Amino acid sequence: MTGSPLWSHPDEPVGLTTEARALALDAADGLSGLRDRFFLPPGTIYLDGNSLGLASQDAQDALLRVVEEWKHLAIGGWGRGEPPWVLLGERLGEMQAPLVGAEPDEVVAAASTTVNLHQLAATFYRPAGRRRKILADELNFPSDLYALQSQVRLRGLDPDEDLVLVRSRDGRTLDEDDIVAAMTDDVAVVVLPSVLYRSGQLLDLPRLTIEAHARGCLIGFDLCHSAGALPHALSEWEVDFAYWCTYKYMNSGPGGVAGLYVNRRHHGRPPGLWGWFGNRSDTRFDMRLEFEPASTAAAWQIGTPNLLSAAPLLGSLALFEEVGIEPLRRRSLALTEYLMALIDALPPELGYTVGTPREPARRGGHVAVEHADAWRVCQALLARGVVPDFRPPNVVRLAPVAFYNSFHEVWRAVRHLAEIVESGELERFTEERGLVV
Ligand SMILES: *Cc1c(COP(=O)(O)O)cnc(C)c1O
Repeated sequence: MTGSPLWSHPDEPVGLTTEARALALDAADGLSGLRDRFFLPPGTIYLDGNSLGLASQDAQDALLRVVEEWKHLAIGGWGRGEPPWVLLGERLGEMQAPLVGAEPDEVVAAASTTVNLHQLAATFYRPAGRRRKILADELNFPSDLYALQSQVRLRGLDPDEDLVLVRSRDGRTLDEDDIVAAMTDDVAVVVLPSVLYRSGQLLDLPRLTIEAHARGCLIGFDLCHSAGALPHALSEWEVDFAYWCTYKYMNSGPGGVAGLYVNRRHHGRPPGLWGWFGNRSDTRFDMRLEFEPASTAAAWQIGTPNLLSAAPLLGSLALFEEVGIEPLRRRSLALTEYLMALIDALPPELGYTVGTPREPARRGGHVAVEHADAWRVCQALLARGVVPDFRPPNVVRLAPVAFYNSFHEVWRAVRHLAEIVESGELERFTEERGLVV
């Protein structure tokens, strides 16, 4: 398969684009065996782990253990499960804490990303006097912006006035200077993504946190595209709050329970939304009419945890404990760097460019490959067994995931990208989009 003229762009060092190089990279890679712990969809090259992480044997085992507890202990599982089901949110919080760089009592697993944002905005967005705005950005995931708009409306304010969106200069990335400049003295809370879902840009979280605090604003981050993909130090950076989903890089399964973090200095402050799972666990079952918030991040839980959507995370996080986030990040950076180099080496007339920042400190775990006909490129990739996802208007999003993708898969995927344009087969696909893109 090697030796096609496609793979000998004059600017490339000899050998970079050969299949032999891909195989050699896999052979030299100490983490390549982890792939065997995952269920890889047969006959496919799965590059969509940043939308839905793959199932692992470990996650499946953990889920089946809880199903067994349900069968054998029934209601007794709330107290006698391992861990007791009532404490599962806290236990999963402790296990996630190293991945986000937090103290064990600063994290809890609960609800979903969007619900957790509502909970945290309900807590931390306290418009008062002149300070009544939320600062966000125009590139964030729409669900976050819908939640923030409704939070502004719930305070009787107008999102057109009081939800300020930092603009992007190039439609892909945000400039931290622009964000800082927008932290004016009428901003109460700043809510930003860590990694932008489309371009994959990683923002400078410690700098933004320092700048927000220096200007009297609270700051929180959406970690959906960084949690499980790269290390964080939320406590050390003194980030006020954060939230994320676990079904992307944390591989907890579709609709898996989400995570949230609240810095210790805010513990004891009443959460915005109250429910009995936010009550102190020792008095929860006293069924008193006054709410007594837990003294940890557990206070930000609302109701009964979704046991069967949380159980797989026990197994999946154990796998993170075994490997550690640092080696996974190193492998992820190597995979994405390789992917970008292969895209760069394609003949320009094929129309592919990289829309992700190049510096390791400025990118997450996926690569935005831009193409004028990105939707049809994605359809053609799927027909060839390569699973990308499409993000309008022109992004083919590819995530080679450190746990389970190989360098050879990246090589093959790029080869498919080249062939589907070269062969003219794009023409066979419709421009019409379906229900889920
Ligand atoms: C995936 C993702 C979500 C998803 O929210 P759910 O409540 O889990 O549906 C929200 N925000 C961002 C930035 C995401 O990447």
